[in-house]
Amino acid sequence: MEFFTIMHKSMLRNFIPFSIAVVLSFFCGCVTNPVTGQQELMLLPVQQDIEIGRRYAPEVEKQMGGTIVNQSLQDYVDSVGQKIARISHNRDFDYHFTALNDKSVNALALPGGYVFVTKGMLEQLTTEAQLASVLAHEVVHIVARDTSNMISNQIGIDILLSVAASQKTPRGLLTAADLTRQILSLQYSRGDERIADLAGLNYMVLAGYDPQGMVETLQVLQRQNDLAPIEFLSTHPSPENRVEYIKEKIQTRYYGIEGLKSGQQDYNAGVLQHLR
Ligand SMILES: [Zn+2]
Repeated sequence: MEFFTIMHKSMLRNFIPFSIAVVLSFFCGCVTNPVTGQQELMLLPVQQDIEIGRRYAPEVEKQMGGTIVNQSLQDYVDSVGQKIARISHNRDFDYHFTALNDKSVNALALPGGYVFVTKGMLEQLTTEAQLASVLAHEVVHIVARDTSNMISNQIGIDILLSVAASQKTPRGLLTAADLTRQILSLQYSRGDERIADLAGLNYMVLAGYDPQGMVETLQVLQRQNDLAPIEFLSTHPSPENRVEYIKEKIQTRYYGIEGLKSGQQDYNAGVLQHLR
């Protein structure tokens, strides 16, 4: 808010028409995070999110076992994701929800609307609401532009775009495959994760899903992680305290809402049957 006040005063002083100031503020890169409502410095135009997602999605697919070759399963996963995308704060991105043939228990997002969930994760889940909770969490990272912020801070957008654009990479320089491996190992801040959980919880309820699905998902992942460390939790905070604040939010905000979907049978028919 302060940014605009300062802009406005200097603008009046210099007789700059308001429309030009709006354009300037766009290029200065101060934007309102649609999820938190707070002003943040964002140096990337949205178009670059889309460009990064489009160029690196095929590389993520390649490094994570390729897509699961089953149109019916892909359509089902996408249909659940699109319900979330439709009610999200940013409906301008073209969202893609893709199931990958990787046995790791994982889900991830690329900027610009690309969400991936692994076969290992799908096998752990038992209801559509649980799947919705995983996809909703990732959609928040895209909408809040956590993914593009993290990538731009830790790798650099220029490098990502130039490497993706060059057909041949000279020996010794980074390749798109190297950069993808870096992207896959990046970690969001705890604050971003908490927002992704809580805003994701809201998204899933707005999309018609029982928020209990998010609690169940974290409990399932925790149990699995106790047996053998899973990938999703190597890049995400431990489920224990997440379950606590999610339960509290359900109690205070969503308690007693009727008609929300759990969708065990649908998940069984849409996913589990195809993986057997
Ligand atoms: Zn996350």
